[in-house]
Amino acid sequence: MSRLSGRPGLWLASLLLAVVSTTARSHPAPQPRADRDPIAFRSGRVEAPAWERAASGTGPARGAADLFLREPPDSLVAALMDSTNVDNMIATIQRLQDFGSRYVVVDSCWAAGYWVRDRFEECGYADVRLDTFRTMSFQDSVYAMNVVAVKEGTTRPSEYVVLGGHYDSVNAENFYDPLAPAPGAEDNATAVAAVLEAARLLRDVPTDRSIIFACWSAEEEGLWGSRNFVASAVEESLDIVVYLNMDCIGYLEPSPDEAPVTVFTDSLSLAIAGYMQTLASAHTDY
Ligand SMILES: [Zn+2]
Repeated sequence: MSRLSGRPGLWLASLLLAVVSTTARSHPAPQPRADRDPIAFRSGRVEAPAWERAASGTGPARGAADLFLREPPDSLVAALMDSTNVDNMIATIQRLQDFGSRYVVVDSCWAAGYWVRDRFEECGYADVRLDTFRTMSFQDSVYAMNVVAVKEGTTRPSEYVVLGGHYDSVNAENFYDPLAPAPGAEDNATAVAAVLEAARLLRDVPTDRSIIFACWSAEEEGLWGSRNFVASAVEESLDIVVYLNMDCIGYLEPSPDEAPVTVFTDSLSLAIAGYMQTLASAHTDY
């Protein structure tokens, strides 16, 4: 679980493209390129619990043109990609591994959460929230904590783009031993590094929509951190336009036989998945 492979900077790029491009000015929505398939798509039907089905029916219906406001290629995106600091990201991944375990029942998982909070604040975010909730681990009922930073949009501040990934980890060979090491590099310190780097890069970039950078806890026991966030979002009628989740980025060794990015999607999310493919085609060598 501690092996680091892949190129986290390149993984960040396509995600960053989507975040920037869903938060800026009006352009017609681009169509996915038919002549190239740099991203593997895996679609599937997700059986959502009742409150999630209810949530999907509460927002206004949006077409692709309203979701994606920026057309690639785009000079701002290119400049942000050039500013990506891969060394920072690798240092973040190493630091998170050095906690030894981010299993939700152990204190070092909380320490990692506070460390992530400090990184958001260090790069200039004033609105960083520690959202604690009670949940079930494999063994017991415990408290856990999401870490969420908010960047306010300019012209559409009540619309949100959410970029997230879980920071907790687990020892896959021993779910029930709280003392087992669980350093979790590519599951999922890589995603935390990408979220933090995106937050750093976008801090001073005005965006029409607000952005929520989220690091979830208690994912490994059943997505409890993100479920808790969604429940609150439904309660507050939060207008979430797009959510991009990152899990196990950098897991695969680069290979000519496999697409370097896999987008897991469902039928409701095909528009964003196709848009990410278009962005990656325009701005990377995928
Ligand atoms: Zn994971």
